[in-house]
Amino acid sequence: MPVQKVQRMIPCITSSKLESLKALLDGAGKVSVIAHVHPDGDAAGSTAAICLYLRENLGKDAAVVLPEALPDSIRFIMPGSVPCLFADKSPEEAAARIAESSLIVLLDCNGFSRTEGLCAALEASDAPKVLIDHHLNPQERQFSLVFSTPEISSASELLYWILKALAGGTEKLPAACRTALCAGMTTDTNNFANSVFPSTFAMASELIASGTDRDAVIGHIYQEYRENRIRLMGYMQSREMVLTPEGAAYMILTKDIQERFGYREGETEGLVNVPLAIREVRLSILLTEKEDCLRVSVRSKKGTSAQQLAVRYFNGGGHENAAGGKLVPGQDIPEVKDARRYVESALKEFLA
Ligand code: 5GP
Ligand code: MN
Repeated sequence: MPVQKVQRMIPCITSSKLESLKALLDGAGKVSVIAHVHPDGDAAGSTAAICLYLRENLGKDAAVVLPEALPDSIRFIMPGSVPCLFADKSPEEAAARIAESSLIVLLDCNGFSRTEGLCAALEASDAPKVLIDHHLNPQERQFSLVFSTPEISSASELLYWILKALAGGTEKLPAACRTALCAGMTTDTNNFANSVFPSTFAMASELIASGTDRDAVIGHIYQEYRENRIRLMGYMQSREMVLTPEGAAYMILTKDIQERFGYREGETEGLVNVPLAIREVRLSILLTEKEDCLRVSVRSKKGTSAQQLAVRYFNGGGHENAAGGKLVPGQDIPEVKDARRYVESALKEFLA
């Protein structure tokens, strides 16, 4: 597909930006590839994919640097051949890697602040920085080159169209790179349920035609859970889901419930979407108790803004219909037990 045709589908991919990116990549020494805190499938898939392309097609010293380790459920997306540093496990090494990199690529987040633990290292670096992202409000001034649009399924999809253009065809991308892109797009669309565009199906079609084993990707994502996850999901839906009169649903996954079900990070993936299956529900919230805060996930149907709710009430942001944030005891609410009242009053005000 010629670049002009790609640009018609995804206007932020222009020939001049592709040329600038090519020059930056060709001229780079060490490259660090970075994504957001609480890395998800799209963060893992997009960072793995660009790292594989840089290493295998361009022979670059490229490494993935993430603020936190990947949860078990998506670890398969990051091939063993990709060097990875995690700031929660080895903060000094992660910061040093960023400091010595001559190029930084940020994926699946709109600015430095979403990398939390890596933010200071990014601010201190004077290397050129490239943003490849699909969130609202890109922090353009932090970057020398920006590819950003919310009109796409995922960072993995945006990266696919960029790498395909740079490499000169889908089949020129390493097989593991294509698999990682397929996994990232599949998780971010919840297997083609949300944020799907014509370009998304085109990408899937081209990946499958090039021999990417989508069945294997689907198997890894949706058929390798632990029994605990299935029981926890059932428990949360039958016992903890609260429906409010304004047409919202919320669930609180307390420490107590986490311990009872032997919960591990990432094992409630998809749970927040479930209440949207109810006709009357237009907004769904999942709160997960952490050491120092409650992590908040928000999903909404078209016409209701999950992003606005996350910005106004939960110190967060994200996409129009899929957003997140946090609620901090001692700051936003007195104690964890006050979360219920806070959420109910926020919903009443927001959906009035
Ligand atoms: P999830 O509910 O899956 O954790 O996040 C949904 C979406 O909201 C993701 O695209 C994620 O990047 C974004 N998001 C989650 N937490 C935050 C946050 O604290 N701040 C911002 N700006 N976005 C967030
Ligand atoms: Mn994403």
